[in-house]
Amino acid sequence: MNKVDYLRISLIDRCNFRCQYCMPEGAEIDYILKQNLLTNNELLTLLKEVFIPVGFTRFRLTGGEPLLRPGLVDLVENISSFPETKDLSMTTNGFLLADMAKDLYQAGLRRINISLDSLDSDTFNLIIGNRGRSRWQLVWNGIQAAYEVDFDPLKLNVVVIPGVNDHEILDLAALTIDRNWHVRFIEFMPIGNDKLFDDRGWISSEELRQRIRKKWGLTESFVRGNGPADIFQIPGAKGTLGFISQMSECFCERCNRMRLSADGWLRPCLLNEMGQIDLKNGLRNGVSVEELRRQIEYLLGIKPEINFKQRESGTTGIYSRTMSQIGG
Ligand code: SAM
Repeated sequence: MNKVDYLRISLIDRCNFRCQYCMPEGAEIDYILKQNLLTNNELLTLLKEVFIPVGFTRFRLTGGEPLLRPGLVDLVENISSFPETKDLSMTTNGFLLADMAKDLYQAGLRRINISLDSLDSDTFNLIIGNRGRSRWQLVWNGIQAAYEVDFDPLKLNVVVIPGVNDHEILDLAALTIDRNWHVRFIEFMPIGNDKLFDDRGWISSEELRQRIRKKWGLTESFVRGNGPADIFQIPGAKGTLGFISQMSECFCERCNRMRLSADGWLRPCLLNEMGQIDLKNGLRNGVSVEELRRQIEYLLGIKPEINFKQRESGTTGIYSRTMSQIGG
């Protein structure tokens, strides 16, 4: 087993997009009430007094849409300034990024993943559930702003949905040829919209690689990420291609992470709800940080047994929560 030192922190469960595969328009989602969100102070206390002492040193801010979180820049500054923080990154849809990229970078954020499922604004709008003015250009501006302020690595996340955006695989992969950008293709999971999943299914990473290989060839990259992606490169390209294959492959044994939801539940595994701890109510009810540490240490000890359990729930469509609720 890998050392578990990576915490994905959902800052908010709300999102300004309604991606078909995640939280489609009309889906009934029970949003967390404002008073139940971890406050910035509570989150910082948990990181400093509980997570860092038990060995977490790498943090990713996600959601929902993390750029919607009030006080985000201060939060980034605080987390990045902990001497133990080895890595601080963010996953965002990029819509509000153009105006925030510089402040986030100056606050200490260095790595960013931006979701970009299409290069075509009509397809993009269809995927994100946008019925108003196109948002593609603003997301693209956000990506450019992130590039200009020097986020490195800058990764683009693509969820591949058959018949919706899979015809763009080569165009998306081509973004890595001249730029030091890293495109991550993610197999579509039946988490969030199992109806779409039943209709469309998913495409395996290997099939995507075959299409890319046919056009340019593909070499396995010597650059190894920390996460579950298998990394490849178009020969001579500046950037890389990563494939996250949670449908076609089980990488539970490489799992190095836990997830903290916006209302303070610590979740050891994406695919099942075993062992979760309610850290927010613990803190609010006066449970000592020493006791919370003990509870997390216990969870770290049993995580290998929790992994693998109910793996099929994330691959067959009997899954009740969305990635936006869990902290994708
Ligand atoms: N709002 C941010 C964004 O759009 O990147 C962060 C949250 S989003 C839930 C995080 C990641 O989860 C995105 O890259 C998204 O594509 C992925 N995701 C959500 N639902 C998914 C699903 N059903 N299958 C695969 N990936 C999914």
